[in-house]
Amino acid sequence: MVISANYVHIPKTRLKFSRKCPICGEMLRFGIEPEIIKSRDFYPFPHIILHGNPIHALIAYIDAELKVRAIESSPSIEILREGATFNSLLQKWSNPF
Ligand SMILES: [Zn+2]
Repeated sequence: MVISANYVHIPKTRLKFSRKCPICGEMLRFGIEPEIIKSRDFYPFPHIILHGNPIHALIAYIDAELKVRAIESSPSIEILREGATFNSLLQKWSNPF
């Protein structure tokens, strides 16, 4: 399988966080795209960081002051097997935040 790698890395917001995952204990660094922050109509909103092997999620709740209000984690993940999701995952991977 050939994967086209035409994705352009665009630097995103300087708004960055780090939190320790309750499941694996890893300190994770993450950031949030400005378009996401501007388009919120409620706070806090969840920001999900998929990571690890086996894959699991750290969920950070970002409040209106753009601070991490709470975190939780989940080992329950499902990634739908269809082309649009796969392409979107590749884009996220190449430009994670
Ligand atoms: Zn973890």
